[in-house]
Amino acid sequence: GQRIVLASRPTGEPTAANFRLEEFDVPAPGEGQVLLRTIWLSLDPYMRGRMSDGPSYAQPVPVGGVMEGGTVCEVLDSNSPGFAKGDIVLAHAGWQTHALADPKPLRKIDPSLGPISTAVGVLGMPGMTAYTGLLDIGQPKEGETVVVAAASGAVGSAVGQIAKIKGARAVGIAGGKAKCDYVKNELGFDDCLDHRDPDLAAKLKAACPKGIDVYFENVGGEVFEAVFPLLNAFARIPVCGLIAQYNAFEAPPTPKWAGAMMRHVLTKRLTIRGFIVSDFAGRRQEFLRDMSEWVRDGKVKYREFVTEGVESAPSAFIGLLKGANFGKQLVRIGPD
Ligand code: NDP
Repeated sequence: GQRIVLASRPTGEPTAANFRLEEFDVPAPGEGQVLLRTIWLSLDPYMRGRMSDGPSYAQPVPVGGVMEGGTVCEVLDSNSPGFAKGDIVLAHAGWQTHALADPKPLRKIDPSLGPISTAVGVLGMPGMTAYTGLLDIGQPKEGETVVVAAASGAVGSAVGQIAKIKGARAVGIAGGKAKCDYVKNELGFDDCLDHRDPDLAAKLKAACPKGIDVYFENVGGEVFEAVFPLLNAFARIPVCGLIAQYNAFEAPPTPKWAGAMMRHVLTKRLTIRGFIVSDFAGRRQEFLRDMSEWVRDGKVKYREFVTEGVESAPSAFIGLLKGANFGKQLVRIGPD
C-alpha cells in the first residue's frame, strides 16, 4: 500500500515538503478488525488545523503520522460480524490506500441515496455542515437575504441552494468569473460576486438592497468586513470556517475595531455562533432524508473536483486552501 504522512509542520502555507509518500505492507486484520481499501478520499480545509499543533478543538496529526481524512472504502477482509467482504463503508481511513479499522465508527453506505462519493460530499459531512449551520443557526425565513462565501464549494454551494428552497434570496461570493457564473446559472443563486474585486463592498451592498439577514461565515477576513456593515437587526451569523485565515501563523493583534463591532452586536442584536458539524450529530436522519430528496429532485446540485491517486493528495490539498478546486475536492484512491 501507499500512504501520505506529515513530514513536518508547516509555517504558513503548506508546501510539498511537509508531506511524504511511504510504501507499506498491507496488514491482515486482527481480532474484531476490518481491512479497508480506500476508493474516495475527501480533502477538507479542517486538515490545515490538524497539521499544526496550536490549540484547536481536535488533536493534531503527529509528525510522521498518516494524514487523517474521511473516506469511502470497500471492506477487503473482516473479522467483525457486522461487516462482510465487499461492503462499502464511510470511514476515517486517512490519506492511504489501505487501513485497518475498528468496526464501531464505520457506517455502511446506502448506494440507493446517490453515487458513493456523495457520502463524503453533499450527503456527507460538508452537506450536513451546510444543512445544520444554515437551518439550525441561520434560520432563514422567506424573503430574507442569505450571504455565503466559498459559494461554489462543498459547503457554500449547499448553503445557498437550501436558502433558496426556504424562500430566501441567496447571494454568493466566490473566486473568479467561472465560479460566479456557475453559482448563478447552475446553482440558481440570485447573485454572486468575486471576492478579489476591489469594489466587493459596494457591489455586495447593491446585491443586498434589503441588507443581510443571515451571513454564513466560511471565510473571515476581508469578506466579513464587507458583510458586517450590511447586517440587519436580528441577523444570524453561523460561524462555520475562516479559511482566509488558516495559513496565518502569527495571531493578529486585537483589532482596534473590536469595540465598535461589539457595539453593533448589541444595538443590532446579532447572533454570532460558532459550530462544528458534530455538534448536530442528532440531526443526521433528517439531514439525510431532506438532502437526498433535494438532490434527487435537482433542487440541490453538486460538483466534484477529482484528482487521481494518493500521491496527488498533497498538491490537491495545497490547492484547496487557495481556491484551485472547483467543487468538492476528492481524491480517487482506487477503482469503484
Ligand atoms: P470548499 O470546497 O469551499 O473549498 C475551499 C474554498 O475556499 C476554495 O475553493 C476557495 O474558493 C475559498 N477560499 C480560499 N481562500 C479564500 C479567501 N482568502 N477568501 C475567500 N475565499 C477563499 O471547502 P468546504 O466547502 O469544504 O469548506 C468551506 C468552509 O467550511 C471552510 O472554511 C471549512 O473550514 C468550513 N467547514 C467547517 C465545518 C464545521 O464543522 N464548522 C465542516 C466543514 C467545513 P474561491 O475560489 O471561491 O475563493
